[in-house]
Amino acid sequence: MDDAPLKHSLGALLWDVDGTLAETELDGHRPAFNLAFAEEGLPWHWDPLTYIQLLAISGGRERLRSFLSDQGPEPPDPALLEALVRRKQQHYTALMAAGAIQLRPGVQRLITAAAAAGLTQAVVTTSGRRAAQALIERLLPDAAAAFAFLVCGDDVTALKPAPDAYLLALRQLAMPAAAAVAIEDSSNGTRAATAAGLRTLVTLSEATCREPLTAFKGAAAIVSQLGESDAPVSVLQGPACPGGLITLSYIEQLVVSS
Ligand SMILES: [Mg+2]
Repeated sequence: MDDAPLKHSLGALLWDVDGTLAETELDGHRPAFNLAFAEEGLPWHWDPLTYIQLLAISGGRERLRSFLSDQGPEPPDPALLEALVRRKQQHYTALMAAGAIQLRPGVQRLITAAAAAGLTQAVVTTSGRRAAQALIERLLPDAAAAFAFLVCGDDVTALKPAPDAYLLALRQLAMPAAAAVAIEDSSNGTRAATAAGLRTLVTLSEATCREPLTAFKGAAAIVSQLGESDAPVSVLQGPACPGGLITLSYIEQLVVSS
């Protein structure tokens, strides 16, 4: 209904997961960490603002390791780190299964439209594969058809903001960066995508919407979300979106104008 036929200059959509597909950070990963701390008898509780600051570090294990390092002069106990990571992963999966996390507006619509148009789509996250798969299986049950592959934190040594995950995805696609668009919510993700040469559409999340727009340097467009008929998009930077919905035609403009 909302997409004219593509002019074929857009070759692929590369989707970040956390904060882009769903508000996983504050509603999923954060409470899962807190449940793991409580189970281990630890006194820590990450409130939303604390967690938003911790998000400067990509990857749950790396985020936790950094936090533990700040708690005392000794390096973190590797056994404690791994125990917390394991418990946190279990709680995250359980929260997902319990329906605590929903897709953000417009995500299902845009993935469905792209699949119908025959556009290649892939997931590029530097979170763990287990968490990414849990989300896709629960919230996007048709994703096996929609996504050509998933690049996850397990697949690269350098996490976002390093471009490695996106460069790996482009190699797997055998496609030049100029033909693909990354959809990201964070400054780290935007840095990773732009360093790989990709045009980047930023869809601000609860965890990133308070950051200055200068944090998303190089973004082709910055929007409040992808939009539904009852939740139109606000464009903070980039081409106007008079229909209130981010469509394939809108994203196509980002490639053509590059
Ligand atoms: Mg993200």
